[in-house]
Amino acid sequence: MTTSPAGTDVTGTDAAELVRLLAAGEVTSVEVTRAYLDRIATEDGELGAYLHVDPEAALARAEQMDGVAGERGFLTGLPVALKDVVVTEGVPTTSGSKILQGWRPPYDATVAARLKAAGTVLLGKTNMDEFAMGSSTENSAYRVTRNPWDPERIPGGSSGGSSAAVAAGLAPWAIGTDTGGSIRQPAALTGLVGHKPTYGSVSRYGLIAFSSSLDQAGPMARTVLDAALLHEAIGGYDPMDSTSIAAPLPLLSESARRGARGDLAGLKVGVVRELGGDGHAEGYEPGVLARFGEAVALLEGLGAEVREVSCPAFDLALPAYYLIAPSEASSNLARFDGVRFGLRVGDDGSHDLDEVMALTREQGFGPEVKRRIILGTYALSSGYYEAYYGQAQKVRTLISRDFNAAFGSDGGQGVDVLLSPTTPTVAFPLGARVDDPVAMYAADLCTLPASLAGMPAISVPCGLSDGLPVGLQVMAPALADDRCYRVAAALEAAQDAARGSRFLDQLPRRTAGSEEGAA
Ligand code: GLN
Repeated sequence: MTTSPAGTDVTGTDAAELVRLLAAGEVTSVEVTRAYLDRIATEDGELGAYLHVDPEAALARAEQMDGVAGERGFLTGLPVALKDVVVTEGVPTTSGSKILQGWRPPYDATVAARLKAAGTVLLGKTNMDEFAMGSSTENSAYRVTRNPWDPERIPGGSSGGSSAAVAAGLAPWAIGTDTGGSIRQPAALTGLVGHKPTYGSVSRYGLIAFSSSLDQAGPMARTVLDAALLHEAIGGYDPMDSTSIAAPLPLLSESARRGARGDLAGLKVGVVRELGGDGHAEGYEPGVLARFGEAVALLEGLGAEVREVSCPAFDLALPAYYLIAPSEASSNLARFDGVRFGLRVGDDGSHDLDEVMALTREQGFGPEVKRRIILGTYALSSGYYEAYYGQAQKVRTLISRDFNAAFGSDGGQGVDVLLSPTTPTVAFPLGARVDDPVAMYAADLCTLPASLAGMPAISVPCGLSDGLPVGLQVMAPALADDRCYRVAAALEAAQDAARGSRFLDQLPRRTAGSEEGAA
């Protein structure tokens, strides 16, 4: 067991509490960082959450942060893990792909730079599906990541390294990215809180692009408050991102604290019929729908006015997403040509430039990435463009209209937030869907609409089904991320109070030297 001088297990501690302990001088950054590094050393061989950890660099940084006590920032000395899609200066960054093996970027993504400026300590880079394409982290070119709740199951994806690391106590919190659900889905399947910010409210500068009109970075954390604090550290306008919104962030941690006080009186909540409701429950596990229903009843008990809302175009989100995202990916991934970054194959004088590029891409990309490049290139080709990409863009408009109608921004139904399960099922077994891309894609059924419309959405734990976590999704209008945090915090606080413990306390934790779960 890794203990602080106070005798508490630091690696099971909320980030907000670590902030307090560090500020009060009750623990040092070196102690905290070492505790996570120890746990990584003993457990990550099996868990597979990290792609790159440099203990010496992390401890040196921690020591440096312990030395700046006088002028400490809010997060000074706090460790953090970054999904390997986030570009980090001088630190290997692969996006889970062989084609970027060995690449050490010459700059920091804005997200990484802001966390550095806030005084955090980089613990490592986390595993992910190659170029963030996937829902299980099984598309990583490097390793399998296991779900800490059941090592024979997937941790979700594509930010599955981040979700597994935080759930297992191998990082206090982590950054993920979400294009169609990759923060929310892995958070739901590992019992974490994960938030996809309003599109444009967290900088994309230095995130290796998958689908530029959808990609957003966001927090993955043990609690709603932690997620809000991490979001505040990375969010806000950035001139380096042309789609960045020049508006201040709403008050996120304050909204989380307010929500935790539990008063939702007057809040209008819409439950989306098309996401698991009557006539739309095919593919949803009964246990997921049961936990979701109980959580909605709990919110109603806190004063929320609940009604069912219909968003008919949500039924079309999956096909639209799987045309738009691959189309943008096929263009974004054209830059990986064996010339500028990472891997180069066939550069032995016997091949011309075109052959080197073709060989590099042939060997550097995995099967799912190739599938998407082919799909996207086809959807964008002349003669098919209107029928595929053009149609998908029209569906996207319909989905935005459904949101606007629900939120009353066009004089419609006027709810403040929309709710759904985050995923149709709990974590599935490793390997169960690798040979069935369509089944894999179905894992994102509930998360895609908010992605396509650019709306903020959070996943918060709402109970267990067969001992595995279930997530509830709260979607809000653009720039109203604070509502997601408020509602999620109210649910979290009510459930914690009923249970008498934090959600993750139910996870059997492995401790150094013990294979059995220990309290
Ligand atoms: N699972 C979805 C996909 O494979 C979403 C991934 C993501 O959000 N990055 O595209």
